[in-house]
Order: sequence, then structure tokens, then C-alpha cells
Amino acid sequence: MFKKIDGKKIASELRTAIKKQTDARIARGLSKPGLAVILVGENPASEVYVRNKCNACEEVGFYSLSKTFPYGVTEDELLTLIEDLNNNSAINGILVQLPLPEHINEEKIIEAIDPLKDVDGFHPYNIGRLALRMPVLRSCTPKGIMTLLKSTGVALEGKEAVVIGASNIVGRPVSLELLMARCTVTTCHSRTVNLEEHVKRADIIIAAVGIPSFVKGEWVKPGAIVIDVGINRLETGKLSGDVDYDAASKNASWITPVPGGVGPMTIASLLENTLQAAELQSG
Ligand code: NAD
Repeated sequence: MFKKIDGKKIASELRTAIKKQTDARIARGLSKPGLAVILVGENPASEVYVRNKCNACEEVGFYSLSKTFPYGVTEDELLTLIEDLNNNSAINGILVQLPLPEHINEEKIIEAIDPLKDVDGFHPYNIGRLALRMPVLRSCTPKGIMTLLKSTGVALEGKEAVVIGASNIVGRPVSLELLMARCTVTTCHSRTVNLEEHVKRADIIIAAVGIPSFVKGEWVKPGAIVIDVGINRLETGKLSGDVDYDAASKNASWITPVPGGVGPMTIASLLENTLQAAELQSG
């Protein structure tokens, strides 16, 4: 019998704990943790993400502000805002909603953020610290995935972990997280040969590809833990993950659903990071 990893419930418990820690911080006479979210252009999905992040902040007692720019904003205008936010003591975390328009250099924008305010954990400083097993602010989705894995109570050390996807925001940092948890890690991507063979030996499968039902049930080794990061909108309007959930459930010991798995953890991790950033900045 497989067990569902209930990301919605775990995220909700995390948010309750963050609210308590925030109340305690304020009772110590410190400021509310503050998050600034920057959005460029009119992308309906991004607008929903930004709204959800700001609502989540309010719920746990953080201060939040969102800055929205038209598509044509220049790189210099964004850099000026980031510099202001870096110097603004009411703001502990800065998040730039990706993707940015093509005329803006994403790396340059991310690198302009003070690494101690980089609550998305995408700055080379934070990725480098993670690679060296000295993480400070950890990327939100990978951090949420590790929280879900730990919730199963299964010891991760020595497990064969296969990550499908090698993007900077999910595949690579989650591979580093798993390595830090002492798994034996294989990172697969679009040029991987014999992908199915890699997946079939995995004790832990992380699917972050962006293709609905990409991971077939028969690829899942009996007893494997399956974490589905994919969020794909089907023509029917329904959301689908990167894993064929019904078929994979027949073999998996633990599996995340979509929706209600990794998704809610990303925002919960962002709140954790913002509180951590506030604590770091208040010494
Ligand atoms: P991406 O497009 O940046 O990267 C996809 C990766 O998959 C690439 O490394 C690519 O090489 C690999 N890939 C593509 N086709 C492949 C194939 N046939 N075989 C093996 N590998 C292949 O995507 P991303 O930003 O990493 O996101 C991946 C998925 O996760 C998307 O569905 C996205 O919506 C979702 N996502 C969810 C959350 C969340 O909070 N739940 C957060 C970020 C991304």
C-alpha cells in the first residue's frame, strides 16, 4: 500500500509554526519580517503566484510589498529598485518573480540582490554555499522537497536518488540537497541516454521535467519514494504532474500528489527563508 505525502497539510503546519516564531520575534521587540516581491509584465500565472506569496506573508504576520513593472521596464530601473530594497531595513527578503522578459539579464538581476536577502536562494552565493555543504538561504522548491522527504521518516543516507530535470531552480539545487543528505545522486536531463534505466534503479525519484505523466508507473521500483514537482495545465484545464500518479502509486511506498504535494511547500519554504533572513539580519 502506498502512502500519500500530504504537502498541503505539512505546509499548513509549517505556516502555523512560522506564525508562532514571528509572534515571538515581535514580542522580543524586533521588526516584522518583510518581503518584497518584484513582478515584471503581465503574466497571469506569475500574478497569481505573487498574490499567493503576499497573502501567505500576511497570514503569518510578515510585512510584504509587491512592485509591478510593465513589460518594457529597463534592466537599470530594476537594478535601482533592488539597490533601494537592499538598503531598506524593513525588507529582509527580495524575490524577483521569474521568468523575466528577454531583454533583461536574469543572472545580473539575481546577482544584484544582497545574498542575505536572497530568499529564493538563487544567488550564486547561496547555491555555492549549498554545494559546499554550508547552506544559508536554500532554494525554496528544493528545500520544500527535502522537508517532504524527511516527513516520511525514511532514512535518506545511502539511498539511490534520481532527479529528472537539471534546471537552476529545481533539478540542480535539489541534486545538491540530496547529495548533502548523503544520497547517491544521478541528475538526468534532456540529453540523458537510457533515462528509464536510471529511474528504474532509484529509491527516490524527483521528477522536475514539465511534461505531463512523463514518468511511467513501470519505471518506479517497488518501494520507491516519488516526488512530483511538475505543474502542467492540461487542455481540459486540469493540473497534471510529471508522473503518471495512478500507475506509479502501484509501486511507490510514498508519493506526492499534484496539486497538493510540492506546490504548497514552495511558499512555506519562502516564508521560512524570509524569517531566517530577518533573524540573520538582526544578528
Ligand atoms: P525547466 O524547463 O527549466 O527544466 C526542465 C528540465 O527537464 C531541463 O533540465 C531539461 O533538460 C529536462 N528535460 C526536458 N525534457 C526531458 C526529457 N525528455 N528527458 C529528460 N529530461 C528532460 O523546468 P523547471 O523550471 O525545472 O520546472 C520543471 C517542472 O516543475 C515544471 O512543470 C514546473 O512548472 C514545475 N515547477 C514546480 C514548482 C512547484 O512549486 N511545485 C516550482 C518550480 C517548477
